[in-house]
Amino acid sequence: MLNDIQNTEENTKYYDRSFIIHQFIQRMNDSKATCSECNRFFYRHIKSRWYSNQESSSVCNDCFMKNQVKTSVEIWEKIYEYKPEECVVCKKRKKEYPEKYYYYYNENIFDSSRPSITGLVQKREDWEIIKKNLDECFGVCLECENIVNQILPCLKYDELKYYIEEQFLSDKITKEDYKNIMEFYRVDYDIKMKEIIDNLSKSLL
Ligand SMILES: [Zn+2]
Ligand SMILES: [Zn+2]
Repeated sequence: MLNDIQNTEENTKYYDRSFIIHQFIQRMNDSKATCSECNRFFYRHIKSRWYSNQESSSVCNDCFMKNQVKTSVEIWEKIYEYKPEECVVCKKRKKEYPEKYYYYYNENIFDSSRPSITGLVQKREDWEIIKKNLDECFGVCLECENIVNQILPCLKYDELKYYIEEQFLSDKITKEDYKNIMEFYRVDYDIKMKEIIDNLSKSLL
């Protein structure tokens, strides 16, 4: 029985029993290079699983990561300078509450193209794009974000969106109608969010 499983053709689709480690090692050795930053040797063939362009790089994985972290720290510093971490609800600022966690809220369920600020930093997006998204989002502390997240489901936007998509998928509304309706609720969602924040910031102690 075990033999049957081992020898089926199906099986070889999923793994290669004839894999030869020496060939792999040979390829690794052939790709040996000296890191242009730390002067240590590294294998170009061994790519970091995070960054696919590593093979053509002239720096080792450690230096590559060090540079990545450095750039992201620099971008975050620029972000905090442009839009300091301050909660729109409780008005607490990172400066006075260094232990607090803040978040740049940039979500709208009717607009799936809206990227998160963290995602933009990870992608090393252009500053102009990050800035544009920072202008559209609002800073909120973790505590207040939890409150906002408890309120949002009460508005049933999820269900509404699902309903609109259903209507479109079953040809009850045209693509044009679908786009217009989604656009209407995209604006409506932003207005409602602003309303929630205004109300909370006036009422919370
Ligand atoms: Zn290096
Ligand atoms: Zn807050």
